Amino acid sequence: MNKTSVDIESIGWHFDNTYSRLPDTMLSRIRPVPVKKPSIAILNHELSKELDLDLSVVNDDVLSLIFSGNVLPDKSNCIAQAYAGHQFGHFTILGDGRAVVIGEHLSKKNQRFDIQFKGSGQTPFSRNGDGRAALGPMLREYIISEAMHYLGIPTTRSLAVVKTGETVMRETPLQGAILTRVAASHIRVGTFQYLIATNNEENLKTLLNYSIDRHYPDIKNTDNLALNFLKTVISKQSKLVIDWMRVGFIHGVMNTDNMTISGETIDYGPCAFMDDYNPETVFSSIDLQGRYSFFNQPGITKWNLARLAESLIPLIDNNKDKAIKIATETLNSFDEFYKKNWLSMMRKKLGLFGEEPNDESLIFNLLSWMNQNKADYTNTFCFLMNENFASNDIYKNQDFMSWKKKWQNRLNIKNNSFEKSLKLMRSVNPLIIPRNHKVEEALEAANNNNLNPINNLIEILKNPYQIQEKNSEYCYPSPESDKKYQTFCGT
Ligand code: AMP
Ligand code: MG
Repeated sequence: MNKTSVDIESIGWHFDNTYSRLPDTMLSRIRPVPVKKPSIAILNHELSKELDLDLSVVNDDVLSLIFSGNVLPDKSNCIAQAYAGHQFGHFTILGDGRAVVIGEHLSKKNQRFDIQFKGSGQTPFSRNGDGRAALGPMLREYIISEAMHYLGIPTTRSLAVVKTGETVMRETPLQGAILTRVAASHIRVGTFQYLIATNNEENLKTLLNYSIDRHYPDIKNTDNLALNFLKTVISKQSKLVIDWMRVGFIHGVMNTDNMTISGETIDYGPCAFMDDYNPETVFSSIDLQGRYSFFNQPGITKWNLARLAESLIPLIDNNKDKAIKIATETLNSFDEFYKKNWLSMMRKKLGLFGEEPNDESLIFNLLSWMNQNKADYTNTFCFLMNENFASNDIYKNQDFMSWKKKWQNRLNIKNNSFEKSLKLMRSVNPLIIPRNHKVEEALEAANNNNLNPINNLIEILKNPYQIQEKNSEYCYPSPESDKKYQTFCGT
């Protein structure tokens, strides 16, 4: 063993690779393609502690070798996963075209994490792509995924971004980078779709059992595994999208290959947070029809879950018609489940306890007022929580004042104290979200080798529900001139 490999092991990897033992048709054994001159852009020390990795035992040069994949840990077992996906409604066979899972790391608490390098070079699934990623989009994934984590929303996380020292050609030449992504797993709706599309029922069953063992062992001994699995994923994904709706997050590319069965948010491409409330908001430059607009997210979640249900049909019942009937009924439970839980979430945002017949109209009246008056989604709730920084002439508007009176009357029902409501509101309404102009500012500086803004931004994003003097500049939406914010896939 040479010095470098000793160093690499000493950070504390503890691999136990199970996915790589699945049938060969489900993956490709491929290693990261080494890069020219790796250097660390950013490291996530908090996350490394949660993983029980000690990054302090080696220097940055060694860390850049580790997180570029130029040198691999002894017990890693690199694979690119095969999957398919409906991309903007069109079915395609895909697979990791620019990523490899180097293994599953176990923390000391025995939690299992996929460690994936994204941007690690070509694989058999690359199609016409170069297998690489650019610095901006990888740092963007780092920022937003960490923001989501601290907002308390299930998400993959980001452990490191390494610059490759190579140029990637997009519309312009860009600095290349590799992101180390940490996930409960990378099993997607599209992984199931891949097996059904390739008529591989045996492996479909294997994947189902594997997924249940890994994520949902509680349902392992139930009668209809496929059906209970479907029900569980429906519940996980509807809760996830409600969390997105709570904070104004727009994923932007909710293709079925970008929907996990673990219920974590995955694949931060053209995502962004909404400033002024408009249900039709779309940031992604390629989402011309608004398929993945803010308002469409729950419907698309259900659409994606329908693709999962379709893939599970042969495992739900031997009688296909019966299986379709059961799957359809199960899927349709999404609507009621979503509505009930969305209302409950919105009640919390408004500090409402119990249920009153007019709650729904109270909620919709506020949303519609925000939409008509271009009120900031995040800051309107801050205003209702008496956060002074959100004071704005817009809230002196007559319609708003009369809505507020109704809201206050509703709050006072059953002698509820405002203090109690405020506590509830504070637990769900972020004061800080990654504002688009702040993200862009940080990325631009990082592209010019100044990592201070990104580090400052991430520090602020760690306490989204707390206000501090120093973070007030992060509380405002983009200046007027930035209103037509657009995001790009960055592939
Ligand atoms: P995404 O839009 O990131 O979800 O990617 C969709 C599919 O395209 C996945 O199969 C990716 O692995 C693949 N892909 C994206 N960018 C590249 C690239 N630069 N080279 C190869 N494959 C890519
Ligand atoms: Mg993807």
